[in-house]
Amino acid sequence: MDHFLYRNGQLHAEDVAVAEIVAAVGTPVYIYSAATLLRHYRLLDEALAGLPHLVCFAVKALSNVAVLRLLGDAGAGMDVVSGGEYARARAAGVAGEKVVFSGVAKTAEEMRLALTGGIRQFNVESEPELEALSAVAVALGREAPVALRVNPDVDAHTHAKISTGRRGDKFGIPIARAPAVAARAAALPGIRMVGVDVHIGSQLTSLAPFEAAYTRVAALVGELRAQGHAIDRVDLGGGLGIPYARANAVPPLPSDYGAMVRRSVGHLGCEIQIEPGRLIAGNAGILAARIVYVKAGEDRDFLILDTGMNDLVRPAMYDAHHDIVPVHQPPAGEPTKPFDVVGPVCETGDTFARGRELPLMVAGDLVAFRSTGAYGAVMGSEYNSRPLAPEVLVHGDQFAVIRARPGYDEMIARDRIPDWMHEDRTAAGGADC
Ligand SMILES: *Cc1c(COP(=O)(O)O)cnc(C)c1O
Repeated sequence: MDHFLYRNGQLHAEDVAVAEIVAAVGTPVYIYSAATLLRHYRLLDEALAGLPHLVCFAVKALSNVAVLRLLGDAGAGMDVVSGGEYARARAAGVAGEKVVFSGVAKTAEEMRLALTGGIRQFNVESEPELEALSAVAVALGREAPVALRVNPDVDAHTHAKISTGRRGDKFGIPIARAPAVAARAAALPGIRMVGVDVHIGSQLTSLAPFEAAYTRVAALVGELRAQGHAIDRVDLGGGLGIPYARANAVPPLPSDYGAMVRRSVGHLGCEIQIEPGRLIAGNAGILAARIVYVKAGEDRDFLILDTGMNDLVRPAMYDAHHDIVPVHQPPAGEPTKPFDVVGPVCETGDTFARGRELPLMVAGDLVAFRSTGAYGAVMGSEYNSRPLAPEVLVHGDQFAVIRARPGYDEMIARDRIPDWMHEDRTAAGGADC
């Protein structure tokens, strides 16, 4: 359930008409619902009620500091995968003790940032990373809390580009090697083993792969404890899918996920961490855009929008489906026809949908892409020098711009002409005279 519904023939974000936001901010624009974000966070928090647990929002799904502040104030921890995300979480006011550092390529600089600023745990993905973290921690005179991220060799049955737990994926330590790596960790100075971590992929629509992975993790915890390691925490990663299309397979409910967590790892007496991104943010956002032209095609007509793959790359990158709806609700019984919905970018890949049934819309009409709160704005770029789409957060009948649209000057001001080109220009000019 989300808070983007038609009222009086107008798409609303909570109590604010999308058209009103567009009138103030322009298009394209990402619009998030605070109530939906909080609802999804609380559903997951409640799903683990009774177990000691922390829900860490995967910052990479939607990293705007205002969103992180909203979730952090509600009690969420944060899962970060870079120094930049760590800085965002801290700028949002989240305590370092609630920030988990994941990612395969943490640099010494990123480790130092987190160790001096405060960190809950590092999810370590390899032996070289473990050695590097030990060296950084010793140099700082600190102890780094570590969970070993294991690769359980489970097929998540999701898109190949977002599957992370199969043998051969770049993530984690092969689970069979984990006891040896744990022994190494215990012997290293500056390292304190606190737990085991797993994350098998994103947009999973079945519980079975999770359960297979978590069961392997539970067995590993037993093995590590038998070796004398104190394992107090298991981090189960993120990955719960959301319904992108009304007709699609219905992903598991958070409550069913919670029951499965109890079943598979509840008996360990560990603190449970999860790292959901998409489930919290996905259906909490839309991307509103305007139709620039309707162009007659050979087979079908094109709806050409003022937003493209630079703002929303998921269809081009993962063949992802997003529902596209008119902002002004068409009257019941209004005819529809299939359109190809495309962006302005100079690539054929800049196609959002082919043959999508939509009402007979005209240039100037507004449309909204649903379920774009996660992996939408964060994956945006300025390709074709189209400034990043702004972000708006709605709270009841209020809305606020939480990231402004940069002007062309701002966008260009990041570029610098090297001094030697200035000199060249002067020299060339001099020669011309
Ligand atoms: C991407 C990622 C997540 C979040 O995945 P979702 O599918 O958005 O829930 C969690 N943990 C790690 C380590 C990740 O890389």
